[in-house]
Amino acid sequence: MDRLRGNDRCWCGSGRKHKKCHGDVRVLQRPPVQLGAVSAPREVPAEIQRPDYVSVGSITTDTGYQVHTPEELERMRVACRVAAEVLSTTGAAVAPGVTTEELDAIAHEAYIERGAYPSTLHYGGSRDYPKSICTSVNGVVCHGIPDDRPLAEGDIVNVDVTAFIEGMHGDTSATFCVGALDVATQGLVETTREATLRGIAAVAPGEPLVRIAEAIEPFAASRGYSVVREYGGHGIGRTFHAAPHINHCITPGDSQRFETGMTFTVEPMLTTGVDSYRQAGDGWTECLVDSMPSAQFEHTVLVTDVGVEILTVDSSGRSPAGTLADLEAEATPA
Ligand SMILES: [Zn+2]
Repeated sequence: MDRLRGNDRCWCGSGRKHKKCHGDVRVLQRPPVQLGAVSAPREVPAEIQRPDYVSVGSITTDTGYQVHTPEELERMRVACRVAAEVLSTTGAAVAPGVTTEELDAIAHEAYIERGAYPSTLHYGGSRDYPKSICTSVNGVVCHGIPDDRPLAEGDIVNVDVTAFIEGMHGDTSATFCVGALDVATQGLVETTREATLRGIAAVAPGEPLVRIAEAIEPFAASRGYSVVREYGGHGIGRTFHAAPHINHCITPGDSQRFETGMTFTVEPMLTTGVDSYRQAGDGWTECLVDSMPSAQFEHTVLVTDVGVEILTVDSSGRSPAGTLADLEAEATPA
């Protein structure tokens, strides 16, 4: 596929070369994120239901396609609405000087208030994830652990929320801007949001899963961005991480098909530079090797009789990760 190159005219219509506009490395590049100190895991009141990997220490729920009865779907809607509300509440607190640890505390309180368990807390068996959200700053592609590093003006931070309530998990994330942002980094964030929504809009019953990647990868490439290949979306519902694996990059042999009633996530990560990364010593944080910024958005979606519905929205149908109505209103030429 054709990827926008440095000497091409920028995708934004400025008339400038890409490398002097949204692809300007001198503007995009920032120092590698220094990991800070991680505090003790937060407590969850005993009356809140735990997922199996916490209560019995292993995953006992089915890891196949998460297709729901009408009654299960109602519970799934609750988990997804709670996740969207926790994401909005936490995102509203993003500001220069705020630590990701403080964001974790705000999110934790928001889950508990709603009777939900933070799905990431003590997830991962022996790796035991210690926090209630993931916070991935700048060149951290995903799974950043909230710590005592204050956010700085011009940073971007992905906040990833998963709520477990009524026996169901709902998973959503958005990348938030810290204070005023340069236009190049802003372009990455806006493009990633649009790419996510375009991928979701391509879902329809009977169609192959590759429709999502076909909607995301060429669109990202047309703006000079790469899509991280190794991390995909996943089935979600009774089980946090279930089938199918959702590729955001076009993958030969990706022939499974969407079925009405399935729920899964769409969550592409876009990078401005190289898309190779390595894991930090904490066993979780995935850092891009070039420290250029990356962004990610995520929704849990439902395959309907005729198309797709985003489940991770608040009670008024809104989300910081955007909606299909937003996509219709804002779609830009690819
Ligand atoms: Zn531009």
